[in-house]
Amino acid sequence: MNLPPLRDVIREYGLQAKKSLGQNFLLDLNLTRRIAREAGAGPDVVVYEVGPGPGGLTRSLLDVGAARVVAVEKDARCIAALADVSAAYPGRLEVIQNDAREVDEAALTAGDKPVIIVANLPYNVSTVLLTKWLLVEPWPPWFKSLTLMFQKEVADRLTASVGSKAYGRLSILANWRTQPRRLFDVSPQAFVPAPKVMSSVVTFDTRPSPIAEADSTILQQVTAAAFGQRRKMLRSSLKSLDVDVEELLSRANIDSSLRAEVIDVEGFCALASIVADMRG
Ligand code: SAM
Repeated sequence: MNLPPLRDVIREYGLQAKKSLGQNFLLDLNLTRRIAREAGAGPDVVVYEVGPGPGGLTRSLLDVGAARVVAVEKDARCIAALADVSAAYPGRLEVIQNDAREVDEAALTAGDKPVIIVANLPYNVSTVLLTKWLLVEPWPPWFKSLTLMFQKEVADRLTASVGSKAYGRLSILANWRTQPRRLFDVSPQAFVPAPKVMSSVVTFDTRPSPIAEADSTILQQVTAAAFGQRRKMLRSSLKSLDVDVEELLSRANIDSSLRAEVIDVEGFCALASIVADMRG
């Protein structure tokens, strides 16, 4: 498409990166195209994008043929730059200036095509947004998959297997309702400005139903208690749940001297269901 290089867009619209908005822009359109392709953007889907910024990934999503892109950007400075992208792809890009934590994305993207979420997330709200999407009710949700850039350390936690050092609350929440998979790592030099750490693109395919039934609020409480004191035995770390912990663990058939990191997703779902039952 006949749009100026992203460096020129940044200069013309004065889009110097703001740390407070987690702005690390991707200017390499080969890389943004790879993300768009591997996310599955194409004529059969509508894409929901958070934080289009100067619009590099947005252009690629449109270039690979996404039927429609709905993008929510908090930074008012980016809106005029994105209007140029909208004009280059008539009727296919809708930009909304808002905080992605506050919007009703299901309503914004509603229509007759499946929705995928694709974003180079602002690192300071990445886990808040991911949690918003993973805990949405009802399940299966309004989107088919998520393909998101994270700091590598967060990607490690999201894709960790039971028993590993990085295994924790995020691994359980992600695996409960989706199948997370790391696509590739991205070096700091790919961004402007360069962050201090490596990044990774992770894709999550939604499961038609969760690995096991559980109330999402109680599942969060159980994992928060268990991993809040991950080096302690469960009989001690789960005390904050306000139920008889020995009874809880015996009903779940879990040895009370085990630690959180060896309990798989099914085990945590069983604990959450029994807690719900014990609380009546
Ligand atoms: N997509 C662009 C790219 O790849 O170059 C920019 C990515 S940058 C890491 C994150 C973007 O999210 C920025 O444009 C920033 O202004 C925007 N942003 C930060 N916090 C936001 C929020 N709460 N809601 C919506 N957008 C936000």
